[in-house]
Amino acid sequence: MNIHDSEKVIGTLAQQGYSQVETPEEAGLVLYNTCSIRDKAEQKVFNRLQNFKKVAGKGKVFGVLGCVAQQEGEKIFDKAPHVSLVVGSASYTKLGEMLVQIENGERRVTGLSLDTEETFDTPFTRRDNPNRAYITIIEGCDKSCAYCVVPFTRGPERSRTSESVMAEAGRLAEQGFTEIQLLGQNVNSYQDPSPAGWDFATMLSKVASVPGIRRVRYTTSHPRDFVKRIMDAMDENPVLCDHVHLPVQSGSSRVLAAMDRLYTRDEYMRRIDWIKSAKRKYSITTDIIVGFPGETDEDFQKTLDLLDEVQYDSLFSFKYSPRPKTAALEMADKVSEEDKQQRLLVLQEKQRAIQIRRNAELIGDIQEVLVEGRHASLGQWIGRTSSNRTLNFTHPDVGDESLMGKYLPVRVTRSGPNSLVGESATVV
Ligand code: SF4
Repeated sequence: MNIHDSEKVIGTLAQQGYSQVETPEEAGLVLYNTCSIRDKAEQKVFNRLQNFKKVAGKGKVFGVLGCVAQQEGEKIFDKAPHVSLVVGSASYTKLGEMLVQIENGERRVTGLSLDTEETFDTPFTRRDNPNRAYITIIEGCDKSCAYCVVPFTRGPERSRTSESVMAEAGRLAEQGFTEIQLLGQNVNSYQDPSPAGWDFATMLSKVASVPGIRRVRYTTSHPRDFVKRIMDAMDENPVLCDHVHLPVQSGSSRVLAAMDRLYTRDEYMRRIDWIKSAKRKYSITTDIIVGFPGETDEDFQKTLDLLDEVQYDSLFSFKYSPRPKTAALEMADKVSEEDKQQRLLVLQEKQRAIQIRRNAELIGDIQEVLVEGRHASLGQWIGRTSSNRTLNFTHPDVGDESLMGKYLPVRVTRSGPNSLVGESATVV
């Protein structure tokens, strides 16, 4: 989502006559697009602002964008006095006007409204990936997970009209994009505000039927809103990729209740059963937080057991990080940093073993890849499978740039924990 936000910012400014330079040192305007999901990410922003000021700060305008901007607001001016601009994600379309204010002598300008209506329509987005385009279909979140800062930084849920989404998807297909990724903090709570009234499953089917679109992905889903209709829609149309990312966060129902995740382990597993009993084979990935306040060794063991049960194809794991304004901040029984670190290592080691096994099962298979790049030194092309795996492969046309963006069959010959290796195959 942040990548796409940066694309919107760059597109908006380019349209107003700004141009991008190669390095921050050359820039007259330096913008930091920030994430505040974890404390570490937030600290990084302030460290970078400080460091950069020392080296080349003179005469430059500095701006902080994104979730740290929304969360900290004008306090940023106190922490980093050389910053002139603090802008949350809902105000990016007004960036040009705000920069004019600065050029006219205003020392500090903020844009912190949470009204997203205008940001949904992003005619000037600069697309960094030549094949895959992101479309935001819903912003914000109405849930209140005890560890999460998103409802405070992105505001309540606002869905975009289906007409506006379909118009953007159509335009992207005409421009030659073949893959669309639908975005939202809670993408599957999508509810069309227009009379058409589409739910997320309908939206998936409709975007997948846009002529020219070969792949549709989405991120990120909340398990409670992952209804069976979504799986049915995916099974009906192979344009909807063979991949479901379903963040579980913990394998212990007790911890899930403390997190206010709105589902139990059993309810989560019911969704996993739908995915596993579907017509196609889907890769399943997740997010896990270790060391949430009150998480015991027994709770953590339940998370490890869940990994055995589900056999995830990949996971993002994090140590719990206290965030401002969240309910967990006040919770007792904090887990020590050492225990969090230890649990993270154990979890990652277990998952690595699972991935080695899961990927090895694919040796001999033929997978369709979208060619996304090239390792010139290795003589390999970089492909992405529908299940979202990286599959590096050799091809007789090793130096031919025209393979970029193509969809090709590739036979898997080797595997590692995080990627596959193969050779171009001809499907008979
Ligand atoms: S559903 Fe996701 S975005 Fe919303 S509060 Fe929970 S973790 Fe945060």
